Amino acid sequence: MHVVVLGAGVIGITTAYQLLKDGHRVTVIDRGDVPASFTSYANAGLVAPGHAYAWGSPAAPGMMLRSLLRGDQAIRFKPRLSRRQWRWTRAFLAQCSAERAAANTRIKTRLCRYAQAELEKVVAETGIGYDGRGGGLLYFYRTPERLEAASARADLLRAEGLELRRLSRDEVIATDPGLALARGRIAGGLLAPSDASGDAHLFTRALAVHCVGLGADLRLNTEIRSLTVKRGEVTAAETSTGSVAGDAFVLCLGVYSPHLAETLKIDLPIYPVKGYSVTVTAADLDTPPAIGGVDEENLLAYCPMGNRLRLTATAEIGGYSTAHRPADFRVMLARAQEIFGCCLGASGVTYWAGLRPMTPTGLPIVDRAPIANLWLNTGHGHMGWTMSNGCARMVADLVGQRAPSHSNEGMRHEG
Ligand SMILES: Cc1cc2nc3c(=O)[nH]c(=O)nc-3n(C[C@H](O)[C@H](O)[C@H](O)COP(=O)(O)OP(=O)(O)OC[C@H]3O[C@@H](n4cnc5c(N)ncnc54)[C@H](O)[C@@H]3O)c2cc1C
Repeated sequence: MHVVVLGAGVIGITTAYQLLKDGHRVTVIDRGDVPASFTSYANAGLVAPGHAYAWGSPAAPGMMLRSLLRGDQAIRFKPRLSRRQWRWTRAFLAQCSAERAAANTRIKTRLCRYAQAELEKVVAETGIGYDGRGGGLLYFYRTPERLEAASARADLLRAEGLELRRLSRDEVIATDPGLALARGRIAGGLLAPSDASGDAHLFTRALAVHCVGLGADLRLNTEIRSLTVKRGEVTAAETSTGSVAGDAFVLCLGVYSPHLAETLKIDLPIYPVKGYSVTVTAADLDTPPAIGGVDEENLLAYCPMGNRLRLTATAEIGGYSTAHRPADFRVMLARAQEIFGCCLGASGVTYWAGLRPMTPTGLPIVDRAPIANLWLNTGHGHMGWTMSNGCARMVADLVGQRAPSHSNEGMRHEG
């Protein structure tokens, strides 16, 4: 079968790889000049089943409301005159009960664990390099109360088989001496020993090269404008460089998936949640971390990637702009300086902002669309790098008319 994958982010390229493994002929289309040039470009890099909590939680509505008055909230709501934003927000708020948050978190944790195992398989099969690092991730807290609450909350993930070890302040520093400078600010932490990290951009580009080696036709600098439907089936993607015919199509356009879907009257509840990242040279740090993690009070993620350190923060529900100003990074750089003695004024700093393709549940949509030969693998939100290889395997199974090797419960399209 000739399968056309729409989008060459981490989701599109991992999907292409699994389809090639199944023996399909594959074409991938993206408007970027390289794979992973949009949201998959400079994310936090954490492969983090230990952080699989749903963002829709009882705490979220209060944060969104406070964010209208203050700029220090983890989730920031920037209201716009946008029907898409208000519909999404209403659906997100409906997921914020304790029961919905727990149910979504359980499904997410199982998906992330499955997907991490698939990532490891792909790396073993292809041998690609991506500045990957094992050894766990450390989630640290600045107050004993927050640590206590986090340890209790982690029982939800532990019940899904994930190890989350509670560490005292001394144990945190012994686990990662790179946090020594912040010793006085740390009350303790949770170590997820099986969590990992790596550069999603490097991974995706290397896997794309591997896919081309396996015969994929990778069409970059190509804008997808519409899909032609005849007799209830998609027959071609209409693009800036011509028509691309295929037997099946997989939609992996991240935050832009709903725009193409809506031309076929398919409603996808995905809205961008903006985040910011800074990449610095590790040599500029006084105490570089040995493993990645999160400063939980500030929701500042940090991740060593080869000779670089990536820092990310912020979740802004406010539209499709990826613009950024120096002020957007001030707080995260100040926090990073407290922890690693770094960054402000350092040379070789790269600034970036990206749009997480969020669904209200925080779970992706991995399913058949209401059109028989159109498949959906999109809406991976804040964990698309972690989930990518698992969801790719699942959608390849669906395209091959098999039950997915991991259940897509909670990930079905509700149209
Ligand atoms: C700040 C930040 C930190 C994050 N940290 C983590 C993390 O630590 N761990 C984790 O697991 N995840 C993380 N994520 C989430 C992760 O980056 C995303 O879930 C993932 O990159 C989404 O991949 P995607 O392929 O769906 O989207 P994208 O990477 O955006 O790919 C979609 C592709 O579609 C193309 N496209 C769109 N429209 C068209 C069109 N009309 N024609 C042609 N091409 C088109 C785009 O060019 C793009 O290449 C983070 C995200 C952000 C923003």
